[in-house]
Amino acid sequence: MSARAAFLVVDDSRVVRRLARGMLEALGFAVSEAEDGARALDACRAAMPDAVLLDWNMPVMDGMGFLRALRADHPSPHPRVILCTTESEIERIVEALEAGADEYIMKPFDAGILADKLRQVGLLPEAA
Ligand SMILES: [Mg+2]
Repeated sequence: MSARAAFLVVDDSRVVRRLARGMLEALGFAVSEAEDGARALDACRAAMPDAVLLDWNMPVMDGMGFLRALRADHPSPHPRVILCTTESEIERIVEALEAGADEYIMKPFDAGILADKLRQVGLLPEAA
């Protein structure tokens, strides 16, 4: 790939966004951030990313609201959407996958777990 793939990190937590940005930049992605689903939709309309790391619980517009609005015009798998969730929200994963999420990742995650998920959805090459 000549240009770096673009990742949009969507989370209302600045701490989570900063951590995710660090991991993704270390893996070679160009990263932008949005703090809720509505801002994320605006960002996608301005420049569609290759992939979205999506929090569920956010003010203004939550992850599901964003996902449904995005997928109305942009069916899976472009952009790839990886839902970030917690163990207590596990029943929501099915709903999110049905709404067009491509993968999910449990919080808290580390760079290794994230890289594995990115390989699963084809955003990183398989490990040699
Ligand atoms: Mg949140």
